[in-house]
Amino acid sequence: MKLLDINDFSRRDGDTLAFDEALSLDELDPSFSEVRIAGKIRNVVGVMTIRALVSGICTTPCDRCLEPAVLPLEAELKTTVTLNASDDDSITVAAGKIDLEKTAYDALSLALPTKILCREDCLGICPTCGKNLNDGPCGCNE
Ligand SMILES: [Zn+2]
Ligand SMILES: [Zn+2]
Repeated sequence: MKLLDINDFSRRDGDTLAFDEALSLDELDPSFSEVRIAGKIRNVVGVMTIRALVSGICTTPCDRCLEPAVLPLEAELKTTVTLNASDDDSITVAAGKIDLEKTAYDALSLALPTKILCREDCLGICPTCGKNLNDGPCGCNE
């Protein structure tokens, strides 16, 4: 678990905390790889505002042909945080520590398209013979 401790930072009015972490989400979901979270937290009169960019690659079966689809994902986070909560559910924080892995996982999961395709024009599988039509026609429709 990778935690960003903001306990001391929360008492440093006017300060900025920059972070840039490469993360492994294997324990949460091994379909995500090359995950990174980078951003800044600003502390203005005790109000902490976080802005961050989460990026990563999701490798998951294509909805049409079931071959692995490789999806580069990006999500932007912008919210205020306190030592025990964030303004919305986009950041996981407890006891003054931000859980970067859980936060990145939630952001990337939301960034996934509803329809997962290995490519825009994926031809899918023939319902009759089960051949992957991206590899060429199967002859069922002739
Ligand atoms: Zn496909
Ligand atoms: Zn066929």
